[in-house]
Amino acid sequence: MSLTFFTPGPAELYPTVANHIQSALAEQIGSISHRSAQFRRIYQHTDEQLRALLNVPSTHAILFTGSATEIWERMLQNCVEFESFHCVNGSFSRKFYDTAVDLKKFAHLVEKPLGQGFDYEEFSKVTEGSPKKAEETGDKIRIPEYAELVCLTANETSTGVQMRGVDINKLKRSHRSKLFCVDMVSSAPYHSLDFEEVDSAFFSVQKSFGLPAGLGVWIVNEKCLARAEQLKKQETVIGSYHSLPSLWKNYKNFETPETPNVWNIYLLGKVAEDMNRLGVDHIRKDTDAKARKIYDFLEKADGFEPFVKNTEHRSPTVAVANTKEPAKEIIERVKGQGMLIGSGYGKAKDNQLRIANFPAVSMEQVERLLDALK
Ligand SMILES: *Cc1c(COP(=O)(O)O)cnc(C)c1O
Repeated sequence: MSLTFFTPGPAELYPTVANHIQSALAEQIGSISHRSAQFRRIYQHTDEQLRALLNVPSTHAILFTGSATEIWERMLQNCVEFESFHCVNGSFSRKFYDTAVDLKKFAHLVEKPLGQGFDYEEFSKVTEGSPKKAEETGDKIRIPEYAELVCLTANETSTGVQMRGVDINKLKRSHRSKLFCVDMVSSAPYHSLDFEEVDSAFFSVQKSFGLPAGLGVWIVNEKCLARAEQLKKQETVIGSYHSLPSLWKNYKNFETPETPNVWNIYLLGKVAEDMNRLGVDHIRKDTDAKARKIYDFLEKADGFEPFVKNTEHRSPTVAVANTKEPAKEIIERVKGQGMLIGSGYGKAKDNQLRIANFPAVSMEQVERLLDALK
């Protein structure tokens, strides 16, 4: 029996992917040269469709890597000489921080208990270390004065906690001197980021875009490039397999330094085009409507409760539920009805469920899942 995947990545394929795979085979995409005009057209098309979908201005390049995990490393190598700052509230935001530690950066973090998130209002507009104004000395979070890069996670997939797009945009506006990078792996294109302000954001394709795994997408602006070039000039290691200057130089021709995942770049362009046809607003509203159904069910149904208490922090794209019954038994039961849901992350494996609410699953499919959970 084929399953509907409500797992938070890899996830259910976007409904049009099967057809696009057929076209890719017919067009022999698996065999074309990555130095051909045909490939350059594919890259350009994907670039244009993602730009339209996410409202990315011409100050930013759209680059391809192996994964989002790679982008954690590239971002830190290319844009941080000494200090980074991380908002951590779960396993993925923690790994972004750990990457900085591994790279011997002086990584600062502010950490929240699992299930909690970050709001703009909690941050001081004054950086730590700078002379403080009286009204700003409270117990607000202060971003360190010497932090070069602020690393945020729009959707913490391990706990189902979001940082709302409006809060991310406001936080950047109040700290314009710092570079901002947003992990939007399990929410893009849901979160609406203001790329006039936000310097960089990234995702991989096997989560909310509903594609097979194996491609990272790095949206990054000229300020980040200038920073990387400066670091390179002073002989800081910024990466050899992929560095921002080499990715950017190739991007100008719609090429990549290495032989890339041409197949997935093609499919991503096609899916982004399909999403644009629906309209990103439609996708966001539809995601909200399905999320309301899911959280409403979790609040009312016996044996379940939403893990995240603050409704504004509840992720619209990955809902996490505490369960009374062992999670494993629920997952098995639902699987018997043709649907797969995720277990809790790490230690929460036994008593939590994670339900992905990505654009690939319809309201009807969500309703069928909730019926099965009853
Ligand atoms: C899955 C995930 C990643 C890592 O993605 P890969 O494609 O495995 O590299 C990073 N951040 C978040 C928030 C994720 O959910």
